[in-house]
Amino acid sequence: MSASAQTVPSAAWPEGVVARYLTVGGALVDVSHDMKLIDDTEPNLSIAHCGGEGCKASHHELWTHYGYRTDNGSRGADQEVSKWAQAHAETCRALPRPTA
Ligand SMILES: [Zn+2]
Repeated sequence: MSASAQTVPSAAWPEGVVARYLTVGGALVDVSHDMKLIDDTEPNLSIAHCGGEGCKASHHELWTHYGYRTDNGSRGADQEVSKWAQAHAETCRALPRPTA
């Protein structure tokens, strides 16, 4: 198990995590990239997951909604999802999920 029981913000981030926010309850909201469909071969959305115990909050934005000619939209989607993650982190009081 590489997962650490400590929620030290400077601990190594899981692979693929592009941003993370510490909630008022001490849990982490991770922003990462994911694929919309099971048969998609490349990431095409940004998604935030709250790691709070019992908190199933998540939010995603499709890159296509933010893409321009020179940009696949990941940056815009990251920003939007990060905004949501930050707002959720400010209100979520769920405690960190115990690590097994
Ligand atoms: Zn939460």
